[in-house]
Amino acid sequence: GVILFILYSRIKLINHQKKRIEEEKNRAEQSERYVEQFLTNISHEIRTPMHAISGMVNALLRNPDSEFKQEYLEVMRISSDNLLVLLNDMLDLAKIESGKIQIISEEIKPLQVATGVVNLLKFKASEKGLDLGIDVSEDFPETMVSDPARLTQVLINLIGNAIKFTDKGQIRLRLSRENDWARFEIVDSGMGIPAEKLQVIFDSFEQVDQVRTREYGGTGLGLSISKKLIELQGGRIWAESELGKGSTFIFELPIHSSLAEASNPNLKPH
Ligand code: ADP
Repeated sequence: GVILFILYSRIKLINHQKKRIEEEKNRAEQSERYVEQFLTNISHEIRTPMHAISGMVNALLRNPDSEFKQEYLEVMRISSDNLLVLLNDMLDLAKIESGKIQIISEEIKPLQVATGVVNLLKFKASEKGLDLGIDVSEDFPETMVSDPARLTQVLINLIGNAIKFTDKGQIRLRLSRENDWARFEIVDSGMGIPAEKLQVIFDSFEQVDQVRTREYGGTGLGLSISKKLIELQGGRIWAESELGKGSTFIFELPIHSSLAEASNPNLKPH
């Protein structure tokens, strides 16, 4: 009986170790796949605008007085802008992942920050015939502790997306309060997001429809950066949507986080 028991325990232990080795192998393979995917995505994102730029430069060198000169220059401008956005996004992501990002905590007036962003993007919205505005509830905090630059960055990303993926109707930025949380909702009347994609779009390089989003441009990094920036400030972010009707992106930030608490990078999202 005892020998059998020892044998049995041994087999169990060996099986357990086997399973652990297997799990480790899976993890390594998964991270290898992730790196491969990352490189594939990144090279595509870099190659597309680079090809456009070098193609247009060559065309202009061959024929400096081309009747399409203006169009070529416009494509070159858009392409180099896209490359800059990609580069900045990648640097942001690398800084966040390596824990080197600095979150500055100061007392801010959130409505003032939000109004600044809306004014910045109003022209872009009106170019598409979209009405962009703010609704503020009475209990929305007048001041709170946050990083104004990071809050601005997240709002630009979310409202920018709302404009990009909406063809008609309106975009509202709704500001309200849930207990000790300042709540920001970006509501659009755009194409919407399928239910099974509502979570994965917050992962790096995830786009709902690769072909269609190529048309709109973008890197698929914006939402994952936004999510990290919100979580670093102790907040949370998620999306709700109805296909064909529109999407709502919601994030909440703590109102009263003390300066010391808010500057702690180990803050956990609630
Ligand atoms: P990007 O916009 O650069 O592609 P993001 O990370 O900001 O990257 O967004 C990821 C994807 O989520 C987008 O490509 C798009 O498919 C989807 N998405 C984001 N915001 C919206 C929105 N307001 N309406 C519909 N789809 C959206």
